Amino acid sequence: MKRYDVAIIGGGIGGLMAAYRLHRNDPSLKTIIIERGNKIDKRHCPAGKDKTCAHCKICSITSGYAGAGAFSDGKFNLGTAYGGTLGEELGDDRANLYINEVDKVLNEYCTSGVPEIYQSNKELALKCLQHNLRLLDMNVKHLGTDNNFITMRNLIEALDGMGVEMLSNVDCESVSGNAKDYTLHLSDGTALGAENIIIATGRSGAAFVSGFCNAYGVKMTSNSVDIGVRVEMKDIIWREFSDKIYEPKILYRTKTFEDRCRMFCFNKGGIVSAENNHGIITANGHAYAEADKKTENCNFAILSSIHFTAPFDQPTEYAESISRLANMIGNGNVLVQRFGDLIRGRRTNDHRLSQNSVTPTLKATSGDISLVLPHRTLTNIIETIYALDQVAPGTANDDTLLYGCESKYYSIRPVFMNDRFELVDGAYIIGDGSGICRGLSQSGAMGIYVADCITGQI
Ligand SMILES: Cc1cc2nc3c(=O)[nH]c(=O)nc-3n(C[C@H](O)[C@H](O)[C@H](O)COP(=O)(O)OP(=O)(O)OC[C@H]3O[C@@H](n4cnc5c(N)ncnc54)[C@H](O)[C@@H]3O)c2cc1C
Repeated sequence: MKRYDVAIIGGGIGGLMAAYRLHRNDPSLKTIIIERGNKIDKRHCPAGKDKTCAHCKICSITSGYAGAGAFSDGKFNLGTAYGGTLGEELGDDRANLYINEVDKVLNEYCTSGVPEIYQSNKELALKCLQHNLRLLDMNVKHLGTDNNFITMRNLIEALDGMGVEMLSNVDCESVSGNAKDYTLHLSDGTALGAENIIIATGRSGAAFVSGFCNAYGVKMTSNSVDIGVRVEMKDIIWREFSDKIYEPKILYRTKTFEDRCRMFCFNKGGIVSAENNHGIITANGHAYAEADKKTENCNFAILSSIHFTAPFDQPTEYAESISRLANMIGNGNVLVQRFGDLIRGRRTNDHRLSQNSVTPTLKATSGDISLVLPHRTLTNIIETIYALDQVAPGTANDDTLLYGCESKYYSIRPVFMNDRFELVDGAYIIGDGSGICRGLSQSGAMGIYVADCITGQI
């Protein structure tokens, strides 16, 4: 059995940044990355041609080298205001230091053009405040889908050159053994040994994390789950914001239920996409940097947070069952509905959709999302759309499109042994899978931080 100093499970940005830092700190370390998806250049979503999800066993959008961020818009948050709670875990100063380290690696490997940096904007923040909305203020570096992909590919090639071993299309099914002497059992029937492991399995690896925690007696807490829709409209409606800060992220406390709703993952000139999460098709969105790939639409998510309390402890399953219901009604696909139809209590049909002034960028099934979303969630979303309409008039237009469902599962949050994010001795967890991160910068920062812990820098 081959043995390694560090085995990293998952080749997303967290795992890649960890591998990079391990090598920089100690080039003699034997490191391997195990990734269930494809090599970066072989990642291909067959939905590209007719926009319909092909229900692949392993989704190429969320899995493979460069992880869930490979085809993302490449927006790197240069701070801790959102994108996770690393600031709360490490303290803002230390978290920012590590986010800065991610930025340095990006600068090293971003070879195709200078990324734009969008500064926070006080006037827009005030405008939002005057309408009960809270604009999350932070500088953002925008690579764009294409530059982001190339940067990640450059980083992966560099890791290869540094001697980091990288397995693809291999799932790490389970781990056995004890501290500093772990055995990783892989889907191809082989096994490998490692002194340290870094679990960097992202959101798609939630089952692996809970399996590991159950096997090693690590407690898990479940926190919130966010459920909602992807919203699409003419790009010009949000241009005042997107021209100045690129990506408006806005919080709203709804009037009826006083629930927290958030508008986030804004894509200027972008497209709505479908993503396959273990057979459940949900909506998402992204945008290309090149002008010729821009659409005349923008899209963003509006999600309503649900915090469950005892005895219920299956928030992920709850969110999945709502998305599954949308797929059932949508004949295996995401649903799309005009806002005007939703508030009039009628389904959208193909005829009305064909006459809509906003042309859908995803081929979804026209239908009625009110048959899917719980009353409370739907009320929150409608109220948020009207609130956003105050600062970006036109958001609540009849022709605005809502795609359902989009959900973010942040339910599993293991209890760490210490502030090194160790679950048990020598087994670390980073990135989205840790329940701490919700974005590229913090996931990468956590990878670099844990690498420093392993090599004794911390
Ligand atoms: C469409 C889209 C757009 C996004 N846009 C942005 C953005 O612009 N800015 C931003 O900050 N964030 C964005 N995000 C979120 C961001 O991509 C994630 O926060 C980030 O990728 C998390 O990094 P990670 O390394 O923790 O996990 P991931 O990137 O999810 O990587 C985990 C990897 O582990 C692999 N894996 C899982 N389980 C196993 C296993 N058992 N064995 C082997 N491999 C396994 C998976 O295949 C995956 O490749 C976007 C996400 C999506 C889906």
